[in-house]
Amino acid sequence: MANFIPDDKVSEIRHAVDITDVVSETVILKRAGKNLVGLCPFHAEKTPSFSVSPDKQIFYCFGCGCGGDVFAFVMKRDGLAFAEALRALARRSGIDLPERALSREDQHRLKERERLFEINRLALHYFAQHLGQHPSGRAPLAYLERRGVTRRSIEAFQLGYAPKGWDGLLAFMGGRSVPPGFVEKAGLAVPRKDGSGFYDRFRDRIMFPILDDASRVVAFGGRVLDDSTPKYLNSPETPIYTKRNVLYGLNRAKERCRSLGSVFIVEGYLDLIALHQAGLENAVATLGTALTAEHIRALTRHAGRMVLVYDSDEAGIRSAQRCVSLFWKEHADFRRGDVFQEDQADTRILVLPEGEDPDSFIKRRGAEAFERLAQSAPGMVRFLTESAVKRHGLSTEGKIRVVSELLGPLAAVNDPVAKAFYIQQLAERTGVEEGVIRQGLQRRARPPEPHAAAERRVSAPPAEDRFERHIVAMMLQVPEMIPEIIDRNILDCFEEGPLKRSAEELIASGHRAGAPLSDRLACVPEGPRREQLAQLAMRDEEWDPKGCRTLLDRFVESRRKLPARRSLQHGIEAAEKAADEAELMRLLSEKQKLAARSRSAAPTAAPKR
Ligand SMILES: [Zn+2]
Repeated sequence: MANFIPDDKVSEIRHAVDITDVVSETVILKRAGKNLVGLCPFHAEKTPSFSVSPDKQIFYCFGCGCGGDVFAFVMKRDGLAFAEALRALARRSGIDLPERALSREDQHRLKERERLFEINRLALHYFAQHLGQHPSGRAPLAYLERRGVTRRSIEAFQLGYAPKGWDGLLAFMGGRSVPPGFVEKAGLAVPRKDGSGFYDRFRDRIMFPILDDASRVVAFGGRVLDDSTPKYLNSPETPIYTKRNVLYGLNRAKERCRSLGSVFIVEGYLDLIALHQAGLENAVATLGTALTAEHIRALTRHAGRMVLVYDSDEAGIRSAQRCVSLFWKEHADFRRGDVFQEDQADTRILVLPEGEDPDSFIKRRGAEAFERLAQSAPGMVRFLTESAVKRHGLSTEGKIRVVSELLGPLAAVNDPVAKAFYIQQLAERTGVEEGVIRQGLQRRARPPEPHAAAERRVSAPPAEDRFERHIVAMMLQVPEMIPEIIDRNILDCFEEGPLKRSAEELIASGHRAGAPLSDRLACVPEGPRREQLAQLAMRDEEWDPKGCRTLLDRFVESRRKLPARRSLQHGIEAAEKAADEAELMRLLSEKQKLAARSRSAAPTAAPKR
């Protein structure tokens, strides 16, 4: 809760750090006019659309729409809550942030998290010791050797061994004054059913510590040495461990991913270690859970190309079918200008030859062969096409099956150029006409989901929206105009919605005209609304008092016509429902005329940067 930290403290920290310095730790910035630009760390791209304004002390990405002040950047980059980002930046600039500056809840949460990290760190040493020095660690060490895991990897990945018995770890923790309840909270102990205390969750297992982005131990995975089940046992979710957020090995892999621009995604611990040992250090593991939107988002910060590695066709198909829509939502930077290039930033599905897993394949054939296979691995849609063709053949019956199986994945592709490309590809492969495939897609189309509709609105703002955005941009960049906006009750003409709320908060914050822009942005809570303000603040335009006033006049004028437009819209919907074609045509053409008129009156769309 930001409220518990005095505003002047927040402001002091904001002024003590230069956003350019902080961003430069992650992004290589080049000067471009007044701003600095670089490749966005939050989405995959090849041409820089990530801008930092040293004057305004804000950043904004024209590719993925993220933006804000230096706190927003650190929160997003390091996955921190506001209070944590504040502390990190305070520490960095030598500003004393009193503990009581945090709310009691935040203090408690922070302390608990720190405690859990500490317990996991202690556990890691306990497990590592048992693998290295303890007599009971001989069998697991021999097992790892048999699996080809080198001593160096054991050290690098900090592998360990949880000995047999029921309370070895609990006793060890007790000796360090960690109460059993906390060991349970860290996911390392389980309460006895009869309520008489706890026992160790991991027993007689090889232990793989799971580290987060900042190399803190958040959880463990344990593997048995024989064929007993479950083969793998993972820590349950805890306040510091959320499965859908964490990728095994990302902390070690991210530098490599960035320099190579690609990442291998495998399923298990040993697969991952095998890849690293073979020099393929740009690899992470999902640990048996399906790839999530959070995983993809985290990976796009580090690599443009993702290669999903599977040891069977079925696993690949299952995952590709499940992931294809996720990828298009999270990782849609498949386009370069108007050309769609499947071979650029994209997602490949690599299925290993039958009977092989990454570990065995690399041992038998070497890392180069693995890389060659990755090079020629198909993209998601092509993979699904080919595997469907393989299963169903290309008889008439088969073609119908192939096409209908592909309709789902194709519908998930939200980039029209890419979609056209895939439809064409599918048509060529199956000999089914493009038109027929398109018809199939249309029949399949359901009413758009709410968020899809919202996205469309963002890409094509109506004239009113454009006015409102323009005015809020003006409020940010020419705060001298705010008194006039208040006097003329301009906000009363705004549509109810997030933008209006932001504008109201901007006024309510009562910042003096001289207050720095990044301070004024902070009157809106962290999140999409602040990102939108950052975008508007980043726009570079020439503002003169006369132009500002004209803008307000034209806005008020356009709003006067709004009721007419609304009733027209209702009429259109009614005519559609009644299937009254003639009436519908008449109303639509009227709407077109009205739109053309307001287009000529409205300000031009947001200038290109
Ligand atoms: Zn971006």
